[in-house]
Amino acid sequence: MKNIVAGNWKMNLGLAQSIELAQSIANSLTELKNTEVWIAPSSPALASVKQSIVGAKISMGSQNVHWEASGAFTGEDSLGLLRDVGCSFVLVGHSERRHVLHETDEMIAKRTQFALRSGIKTTLCIGETLHDQESGQAQEVIHRQLDTALKSSNKDELANLVVAYEPVWAIGTGKVATVEIVDSIHSFIRQYLDKNASGIEIPILYGGSVSPGNFAEIIAIDNVNGALVGGASLDPQKFLKLIEISENN
Ligand code: PEP
Repeated sequence: MKNIVAGNWKMNLGLAQSIELAQSIANSLTELKNTEVWIAPSSPALASVKQSIVGAKISMGSQNVHWEASGAFTGEDSLGLLRDVGCSFVLVGHSERRHVLHETDEMIAKRTQFALRSGIKTTLCIGETLHDQESGQAQEVIHRQLDTALKSSNKDELANLVVAYEPVWAIGTGKVATVEIVDSIHSFIRQYLDKNASGIEIPILYGGSVSPGNFAEIIAIDNVNGALVGGASLDPQKFLKLIEISENN
């Protein structure tokens, strides 16, 4: 399977800056054999960003999606509209949605199930807090987050899944999980997927302070199929370097 290098722009950049960033990535991309490039701008920028990179080998997606097709859900985005503006993937359950906006496992499960059922690439973000890690509960938390979100989806639906393991304590902090931690959690996730979605290729991305200085070591780990990148995805030179490292892996 190809690696995925996915940029999560979070709530950053104005419209002109979003277009500029997308175009500078698009203009510098060379022929890629081994890597898919994904970007997730803020919702109001999606339509214009997509129009600005027509023809580029970049997939654009949304940072979240609601679990109903439409209705009275002020402030949420529908999958239909996200598709209309050119999204080909969605993120769900990002750590900031869970821990800053207090989305529950159940809400994230509804978002995940709806997106998977609708046939869009769905990146389920999971990860333990520092307290979970230090108290030896990381695997239990990861298992609960996976199982709540995925247990009701069938194999056809799970073919649209991407998992992003992002330890909460490593996101935006400059602290990267050690090779041992990434290795052990990614193989734990792979075992879960092998058991519940055997025969389906599901990429597992690592996220948490990924940068050009640490990515070569991370992408070389078994069961790491790419990265979900926050901070470094806002700098085109750094993001392009991550793509190059993935290509050379
Ligand atoms: C993220 O937003 O998913 C993320 C991993 O952020 P950062 O790379 O800045 O830690």
